[in-house]
Amino acid sequence: MITHYGIPASPGVAIGEALIFDKERIRIPRRFVTRDAVDDEVRRLEQAIDAVAAEIDRNRELVTGQLGAQYGAIFAAHLAMLRDPRLNEEWRRLIREQHYAPEHAVSETLRRYASVFQKLEHRFLAARSEDVLDIERSLLRCLTGQPREELTHIGSPVAVLAHDLTPSETASLDRRFVIGFATESGGAGGHSAIVARALEIPAVVGLGRFLAETGPGDAVIIDGDEGRLIVRPDGPTRAEFERRAESRRTFAASLERFRDLPAETADGTRIEIDANIEFPHEVDACRQRGADGIGLYRTEFLYLGAAREPTEDDHFRAYADVVERMGGRPVVIRTFDLGADKLGRAPGESEERNPFLGLRSIRISLRHVTEFRRQLRAILRAGASGDVRVMFPMIATVPELRRAKAILADACEDLDEAGIPRPPKMPVGMMVEVPSAVVLLDRFLPDVDFVSIGTNDLIQYALAVDRCNREVADLYHDTDPAVLKLIAMTVDAAERHGKPVGLCGQMSANPLCTPLLIGLGLRSLSMPPADIPEIKQICRGTTVERCREVAGRALRMESARQVDHYLREEFQKNRT
Ligand code: PEP
Ligand code: MG
Repeated sequence: MITHYGIPASPGVAIGEALIFDKERIRIPRRFVTRDAVDDEVRRLEQAIDAVAAEIDRNRELVTGQLGAQYGAIFAAHLAMLRDPRLNEEWRRLIREQHYAPEHAVSETLRRYASVFQKLEHRFLAARSEDVLDIERSLLRCLTGQPREELTHIGSPVAVLAHDLTPSETASLDRRFVIGFATESGGAGGHSAIVARALEIPAVVGLGRFLAETGPGDAVIIDGDEGRLIVRPDGPTRAEFERRAESRRTFAASLERFRDLPAETADGTRIEIDANIEFPHEVDACRQRGADGIGLYRTEFLYLGAAREPTEDDHFRAYADVVERMGGRPVVIRTFDLGADKLGRAPGESEERNPFLGLRSIRISLRHVTEFRRQLRAILRAGASGDVRVMFPMIATVPELRRAKAILADACEDLDEAGIPRPPKMPVGMMVEVPSAVVLLDRFLPDVDFVSIGTNDLIQYALAVDRCNREVADLYHDTDPAVLKLIAMTVDAAERHGKPVGLCGQMSANPLCTPLLIGLGLRSLSMPPADIPEIKQICRGTTVERCREVAGRALRMESARQVDHYLREEFQKNRT
């Protein structure tokens, strides 16, 4: 039995057989073919293209079924690239005239294309280089007969183990069979962790090297609560985790009754409980778990399914779908939060020395005004048929906020000129996730209708700890008194200005923190849908007065460790 420690990315326990998804190990057998073998080799290439095309088509159907047509579209782009007549002609020519082996022809051309894409200024096109390399891998696997561990053709329950998973790989995990996943790289805030939570499967990331010591079919336990991967567990360990998985199931069933109850404290204060979503299809889970609204719609995930730069109508359809399915409940649409660990980063840009301090989030939107304005028009259009609010991420300075608002005003004008309906005034919010925004919040507040605290980022910027770096994951604490103080300052400033304030970081889903957050003055929390019932239960079992005591004591402590210890004690007291 070997235990590897990583970063918890999505809660729960998965016990099952390992499926090792190792996409790097493809060897190209030879460089050239003889003159008389040329026709056969061209035929072999054509067969490989057909086989890969059929495979892509199957993936497209599967993803469309799971996540919707717009996400299936990513595979249509792969297909178009694979069948591109000029590319196909270039391969044939290299085989016929240069006597290249098909593997060599494919690899050489596609790697060249990928590097051209990588150098492009346009970040969306630059990110396409990953797709080109995906196609190269598929073709090589087919040509060399090296089997591919298919994520989409899994027919029995497996735990997927990989070095990393790309956005398309994560999205194509078949929820019926993939019981969890564990990766060597990545952090809790990365795209694959967020998708795991959306799929509601346990996941651990940032485990460091473990694949070399793990074989396909090995029994494994993925402990998404504590961030552990246990390979070949012994009997007692397995039995213990089976008991834990069972008690989780019983606990989840016992929470179902909270779905239709409001999150009202025992002394009568209503807490609004909203959901964080990444995909329109998650609205069903929000309704099932009793969300009051959507507190954070992470629109950057639209890129996950995009075969091309999303058009205004692509945006509009996704947003309108969410708004319609929420049936009049409020929906906060956050504008793109791309870059750093998230999607849409050009591969070359990963070399930025400090990506979290670099070109990310609102900074990207403000540099790509055409795309930003297009997204804002779509949000405004969706607002014509429901309660939609727009929110800007990672605002660090007042001029940034003003620029974003000016572009929003331009988008309003675009629609008015074209006679397209929009709400007369859409509420505008900003995320508070950079300490500068907390410190100067008084100067931002006159310009916004609401604020939402993004603790995932606020913690990393306040404590100087990269949220995705496994080396410093032990220093990343939502309960650090400095973080609590920043939250308290934000709530106080918002109250002074009479502006609503919520919290939509992962901290809002941590049951230990619920009394603390209520005590700090928060009355609106947004979290992954799966966590809603438990948080409602906690709200209903406490009083605001008690929560204030908890927050008061925690604020006077010196370290996250002390606060954690105290919160755990309080939690146990309430449970017994
Ligand atoms: C946050 O930073 O807390 C947040 C909710 O945004 P994201 O996790 O998408 O960066
Ligand atoms: Mg954030």
